[in-house]
Amino acid sequence: MIGIEATAANQIIAALTASALYMATYLSFVHLLKYPRNWHLPGWSASLVTGALAILTVSLVSLVPEGIDLAALTVSAGFLIVLFFLMAAPAIAFRPASQLVEFLAKHGDYSGLLLSGPALLASLTIPNSKLHAVLVTAFAIELSWVLRQRWANQKRQLYVLNDTDLSVLKTQAKGDLEAFRRRHGMSELILSQGPASWRGCGKKTAPCPFNFYVNRLGLNTAPCCREHMKQLSHHIAAGLDQLGAVYWLEGGSLLGAVRENGALLDWEDDVDISVLLDNKLTWDRLSTGLAEHGAREGFYVDVFKNREFISISFDMPKPWPWRWERNRLRGEIRADIAIYRKAVSYGKEVLERRSHKGALPATESGCFGVPQEMILPTSTIPFVDRDFSCPNQPEKYLQLMYGDFRKIEYTYLDAEAAKTRTGIDTGNSRSRKLSG
Ligand SMILES: [Zn+2]
Repeated sequence: MIGIEATAANQIIAALTASALYMATYLSFVHLLKYPRNWHLPGWSASLVTGALAILTVSLVSLVPEGIDLAALTVSAGFLIVLFFLMAAPAIAFRPASQLVEFLAKHGDYSGLLLSGPALLASLTIPNSKLHAVLVTAFAIELSWVLRQRWANQKRQLYVLNDTDLSVLKTQAKGDLEAFRRRHGMSELILSQGPASWRGCGKKTAPCPFNFYVNRLGLNTAPCCREHMKQLSHHIAAGLDQLGAVYWLEGGSLLGAVRENGALLDWEDDVDISVLLDNKLTWDRLSTGLAEHGAREGFYVDVFKNREFISISFDMPKPWPWRWERNRLRGEIRADIAIYRKAVSYGKEVLERRSHKGALPATESGCFGVPQEMILPTSTIPFVDRDFSCPNQPEKYLQLMYGDFRKIEYTYLDAEAAKTRTGIDTGNSRSRKLSG
């Protein structure tokens, strides 16, 4: 009798351990997804930890007193590989991705549940309580993910699409909005209540997957996302001002400020800001300061120390350990913070950065640089309803980075979608210039 009880107790402990190991693997994996979301390859140490946890989970499930449970090994390993691929699809799709990845990204919210439910039922034919524990845990996490997303989406608010947004949408849809909406699964687009409107994202909902809508379908950035990019820009400027940082608008954001009279580009997909590090503002002080400021004001901050890169997102940070699950979300309203330092290159004073941007020339040390006088001392320019710090010679800087920056070019848009919208943007740009 005592032997049977001891065996049952051991089985329960083994099942609970398997469940806890799965949970740790899951959290480690969703944490890893921050890299593809930001177009980086995951670091070795983080990947090794996740890999080791996955191997431990599968080993624990497969090892039984009789040896190796081959059925449990096949099911647990196969399940983890497929489930984690489904979870990763929305993060992989932040870069232009294959149609399969984009399809999976579109259905990313509930595909894990569709996989884990049947897998759990099928596993009941295998007498392995550790396998059952892993699949029950996975099913519970997936169910809770789906329910939380559904619940958050109830909080979406209606935005009216302005004339420009609507004309771009109609052009890309070739007039048939309903078919276009259905074909691309655009659940945010509401056509049944009079004029077209948009179920906008908010602080606690998932963001609109506007990377897909903007970069692949060639639509304008959704009105909600534009509003949130503005709030995000103001938040970051306030944080950098508090730190006494020297910073400036960069890339597409600067282009919007200069060419579009202080507005975002119609197809903007992120906010770009650069910061100068020196003896007073070190990397540690900047990253800690921005992380604390984000935590206080409810913005999510990711720090990539090895790459000297910080991304700050509009969504509300969740408490640990659910904090990293946000990396499963399909879209993101984000600002990229790049780092510059003073240097001398070929006898000239420059500001240089490690990562490539636009057509910035290479410096002597193998980084990318801009003549110091183009940036310093920084000036200000109106941008999204406030005065924003910008390079001393913004037009020369844009010229250096993009060449003829007055000419509209869609660096991130699908070629066909870009061609379709050219006429509309040329007209709009002209009318803005006349009114500006
Ligand atoms: Zn939105």
